[in-house]
Amino acid sequence: MATSLVLADVHSNLPALQAVLQDAGRHAIFDTVLVLGDVVGYGAEPNECIERLRDYPCVIVAGNHDLGSVGRADLSQFSAEAAAACAWTAGRLSLASASFLSALALSAVQPPFMLVHGSPACPVWEYVVSASRARALRASCPQSHCLVGHTHVPAAYDMEAGASLAASAGARLSLRDGRFLVNPGSVGQPRDGDARAAYAVFDTDEAVLQWFRVGYDVEAAAAAIIRACLPVSLAARLRVGC
Ligand code: ZN
Repeated sequence: MATSLVLADVHSNLPALQAVLQDAGRHAIFDTVLVLGDVVGYGAEPNECIERLRDYPCVIVAGNHDLGSVGRADLSQFSAEAAAACAWTAGRLSLASASFLSALALSAVQPPFMLVHGSPACPVWEYVVSASRARALRASCPQSHCLVGHTHVPAAYDMEAGASLAASAGARLSLRDGRFLVNPGSVGQPRDGDARAAYAVFDTDEAVLQWFRVGYDVEAAAAAIIRACLPVSLAARLRVGC
């Protein structure tokens, strides 16, 4: 059985990433890990998260925080706390991590998917939050389906019907018929009111994608943020998942 792990918005949250890798490992051995950007930013362990992901065969695209942390995006485009976290991250990155982030592409193809952080039309910055927008974006997606991150909210849209589909923990979506735009949710900074880390698994043989949530040591991640003198609000939001 060929299986891909689908991750987005890790945001330097090592306890969340470790919990996801461990939990996902119970379902299958992964041929590929598809990472939809924002490996770094907000959290306190950027190098550790990059190194952990590089243990796996990964396809990774750049998110706005990845770009902002290596001078590839102007920090004036970020909120104050996001810009502060990018600047902090820039000062912490190892040489290897910085060159890794500097080399990330803005989009990638891993059939049947196009991978971007934002949207197929605006790969870094657009938040896709409606079925009507997902439908309009189908012309910009050269693959059958599109995997996105950025909103930190699990979601699935039928790009042909312009409909929202279930994407809560346990939901399963067959990709055999139709074209879909899918967000696995955020590993390291969920924003849907559920503090648990989010991820998805794609079974290539069955063409079925499934969403999962797993609890992790939120207090360890929050304590690392506070120790690092990052904005305290970044620690607080992890506890409530928004
Ligand atoms: Zn993000």
